[in-house]
Amino acid sequence: MRMQIALPTATSEQRSLLEMDLAQLADYLTTLGQPGFRARQVWEWIYKRFAGDFAAMTNLPKELRARLEAEATIAPLRLVTEIVSRDRDTVKALFQLHDGQTIEAVLMLYDERRTLCISSQAGCAMGCTFCATAQGGLARNLTPGEIVAQVLYFARYLADPSLPPMTAVTRPTTVTNIVLMGMGEPLHNYANVWTALRRLTDADAFGLGARHITLSTVGLAPGIDRMADEELQIGLAVSLHAPNDELRTQLVPVNKGYPIDEVLAAVRRYIAKTNRRVTFEYALMAGINDTPALAQELAAKLQGLLCHVNLIPLNPIPDSKYQPTSDADAARFAQILRDAGIPTTVRLRRGIEINAGCGQLRRAVSKTT
Ligand code: SF4
Repeated sequence: MRMQIALPTATSEQRSLLEMDLAQLADYLTTLGQPGFRARQVWEWIYKRFAGDFAAMTNLPKELRARLEAEATIAPLRLVTEIVSRDRDTVKALFQLHDGQTIEAVLMLYDERRTLCISSQAGCAMGCTFCATAQGGLARNLTPGEIVAQVLYFARYLADPSLPPMTAVTRPTTVTNIVLMGMGEPLHNYANVWTALRRLTDADAFGLGARHITLSTVGLAPGIDRMADEELQIGLAVSLHAPNDELRTQLVPVNKGYPIDEVLAAVRRYIAKTNRRVTFEYALMAGINDTPALAQELAAKLQGLLCHVNLIPLNPIPDSKYQPTSDADAARFAQILRDAGIPTTVRLRRGIEINAGCGQLRRAVSKTT
């Protein structure tokens, strides 16, 4: 099932106002002959009122709106396709950037949470062997504005009263949680990701609490150390997928550079500095990394860490040798971890029929176009 909301198409000549902080926006508007207070007005339309275009900014002079429409943008992503799951609790969007690159973002509705999974890069350099995004390699880093734009797109989506409710229950109207778990490795695009996170958490801008945001990394240890020194209390999730180097290197080749003990040492330093619980993600693949022996090995590795394990039956990619673990095997794996005192959840797979796994919609669309 598809739903679309219209957004203007950005061109490479247009200046994206989402790349500017408030001071830079004020400078830009000054060059257009505008008074000092104008920047705050535009800022609020973007971050508080979720305007999708300049025409909506009704307290701006008409001539300014026309000028901005011609030379600037606040919506640098062009929607290529958007699909809503049968249960109407998951929406996946494929966006095109001004240079033709494509990225994905997924909105998932839980009872009171509206969790948005966003991308940090177009493609990814990490080469995880079970991942659709890895297959095309890294095209480029996303800019801060392109990262923020994914959130604003769904903020507009949720706030739009003209769209039907996503589920039979009350219509949610705001993004409550963000996970950087879409395409790309966020710690491989550190500076841009952090600029975007500051904007998203700034009370004057999008204003989401840092604790409602989780950054998921494949385990770039220096980036984890850097993150530990940040003031923002962004949550950390580390994708382990295996409890030993031999298996992990097969699944996550970057493990050659950052072996599992090095990653866990960085996590220990992170916990010591921040006192925050870390999530370990583990994509369960049938017959590959889901045996009871591996569960016991994982439990031994994680003993004593302030952590939580999130088991995710893999979203299968067509033609891949990796297939999801059965529910029974996932439950058995989880129980072994719990019996060893490791808090563990099995995450619901969302939106399988809409290619909701990272990189899957992009792959499906590029194969049919
Ligand atoms: S799983 Fe994540 S880190 Fe690994 S290749 Fe895919 S996008 Fe990159």
